[in-house]
Amino acid sequence: MRPASAGPSRRRFGAAALSLCWPGFAVAEVSPAVSLAQALQRARALRDEASSAGDQPFGAVVWCGGRIVGEAPSRVVTAGDPTAHAEMEAIRDAARRLGRRDLSDCVLVSTSRPCRMCEAAAGWARIERLVHGDVPP
Ligand SMILES: [Zn+2]
Repeated sequence: MRPASAGPSRRRFGAAALSLCWPGFAVAEVSPAVSLAQALQRARALRDEASSAGDQPFGAVVWCGGRIVGEAPSRVVTAGDPTAHAEMEAIRDAARRLGRRDLSDCVLVSTSRPCRMCEAAAGWARIERLVHGDVPP
């Protein structure tokens, strides 16, 4: 593990964010270790962030190896993109941070049940487990 470094993704996770080198993959900016319940809390915070920004009230994170490796609020309204669902954006974020498109060791955590598009995207990313809802896992 390397010490924290500056960068836009670090700010998104706060001062405690780490730069973690995954074996065989590029260095990725990911969160400190969090539980699945904390990952869901983060998804809820992103949902509230989306709502405050005037977007649809959805948030999602990708949780991998006990860390949040991707996250996003819904950006459908703010980005004017009908496919910018929180889950899609979180999957893109995770793939970018990890430098790989196979996310089979990750869990997609979202504030509501993903739609068919996002379920399909999770399938293409080989994510095998989805956690959603407002009830802590
Ligand atoms: Zn969706």
